[in-house]
Amino acid sequence: MALTGKQQRLHRRSTEAQQYRRLYRDKRWCGPHGIRQQTLVRDLYTCQRCDSLLVTGDRHHPRAAVVNHIKPHKGDESLFFDLENTEAVCKSCHDTLIQKEEARGYTIGSDINGRPVDKNHPWNAR
Ligand SMILES: [Zn+2]
Repeated sequence: MALTGKQQRLHRRSTEAQQYRRLYRDKRWCGPHGIRQQTLVRDLYTCQRCDSLLVTGDRHHPRAAVVNHIKPHKGDESLFFDLENTEAVCKSCHDTLIQKEEARGYTIGSDINGRPVDKNHPWNAR
């Protein structure tokens, strides 16, 4: 039986999540001088979307510190470890952003030419 679109998305995401987990465990990301820490210090532990002061040590808190990749890295290390591509956001802003993206079925964002970054966006359909 063929997988539904939703099943395919879930499957793809879990496979991606496994691939990405090693990136999030990388010292260049989560080490004491890693990109994650550098982003939080640079952004003064403030959510770049709603200006809330971020909470560390409780990742289930609505204002828990999340370091978001502005342009989705999709496993690309040059995007993943790029301090120019990260922003500190709170968990609720991050979750809202992700929910919007999921509802649309593609990633929000465009490149410098104004083209959507996600190849699944209808504009990019062949
Ligand atoms: Zn926020």
